[in-house]
Amino acid sequence: MNLITDFFQRLAPTPIRYLTTINRKHLYIKQDYLNHSSIQGNKLRKLKYTLLEAANQQQTLISFGGAYSNHIAALAAAGYIFHLPTVGIIRGEELAAQPKRWSKTLITAYQQGMQLHFVSRAAYRNKQQSTEIQAIIQQYPAHQLIAEGGSNHQSVYGSMEVMAEVAATQKKFTTLFAACGTGGTVAGLIDGVAKQCLCCQIIGIPVLKGNDDLTKDICQLSQAHQQVNWHLNPHYHFGGYAKTSAKLSAFQQYFEQQFQIPLDPVYTAKLCYAVFDLAANAPDNHTENWLIYHSGGLQGRG
Ligand SMILES: *Cc1c(COP(=O)(O)O)cnc(C)c1O
Repeated sequence: MNLITDFFQRLAPTPIRYLTTINRKHLYIKQDYLNHSSIQGNKLRKLKYTLLEAANQQQTLISFGGAYSNHIAALAAAGYIFHLPTVGIIRGEELAAQPKRWSKTLITAYQQGMQLHFVSRAAYRNKQQSTEIQAIIQQYPAHQLIAEGGSNHQSVYGSMEVMAEVAATQKKFTTLFAACGTGGTVAGLIDGVAKQCLCCQIIGIPVLKGNDDLTKDICQLSQAHQQVNWHLNPHYHFGGYAKTSAKLSAFQQYFEQQFQIPLDPVYTAKLCYAVFDLAANAPDNHTENWLIYHSGGLQGRG
C-alpha cells in the first residue's frame, strides 16, 4: 500500500481527557497534539488530503510562512517522512545570508530537505502580485501551492475528521473551543459538527489582533457555517500574534503543572486561558460539558 495512505489508516483517534469543573462547567480536552510528534495537531489534519494528492500527482508542495511557522514545520516534516519535495517561501530576506539567525523551525525544515527561499516583507505581503515570488514558484513545474497557514478546502476536510472522533465517543459536549489563526481549522470543526449532527456550539479564539476578515474567511471555507451555532471571541489575543504577558505565562505554568499537558505560548495557552476565564465568569446554574481542542504547536516552544 501507498506509504501515506497506510500512515493515515494507522493513526489512532486522539484521546479526550477530563480536566476540571468550574461553575458546573465540566472541562475536557481533545489531545490532538498526541497524533504525531513532528506533523502535529491541526497541521496534520489540515495537510492530510493535500499530501495524498501531491503523492498521487508527484507534485512539489510550495507554501509560505514566517520563521516560526508551525505550518512550515509540519510541511517540512511531512515532506521528509513521505519523500515529497517541499519548498518554503519565508518572510525576511535578511535571513538568507545569516543562517546563524535561523529559528529552530527553519533549521529543522532545512535539515528535512525543504528548499527555503527568503523574500522581503513587501513581496511576502503581496504574494499574488510579487514577480519575485512568481519567479520562485515557476522553478517548480509540477507543484501545488498551499496558502499561508495551510487553509484550503482540503484542510477543511481533514479538520472535519476531528469531529468524527468526538462523535464516536458518544459523549455530549455543549461547547467546543479552538484557537484561530487563519480560521481553516475552525471552518473544518464547523463542517464536522454539521456532518456528525452534533448539537455543539463552537467558539473560536483568535490569537491575532484585529483580523477583520477572519469571520468572512471562515464562512468562505465552511459549507455549514449557517447551520452551526458558532462565533469568534476576540478578547483573548493578548495584544496580537506571539504577544504574551506575565498573566498568560503564569497561567501556562499553572496549567502545565496541574494537568501535565504541555501548551504552546502562541495558540493553546491563549485558548486554555480563555476557556478557564469564561468558565470562571459563567453562571453556575447550568451544567455543561465544554471541550477544548488542543491543536498542537509544541514545536514552537523553542
Ligand atoms: C496553526 C495553528 C492554529 C491555527 O490554525 P488555523 O487553521 O490557521 O486557524 C491553531 N493552533 C495551533 C497549535 C497551530 O499551530
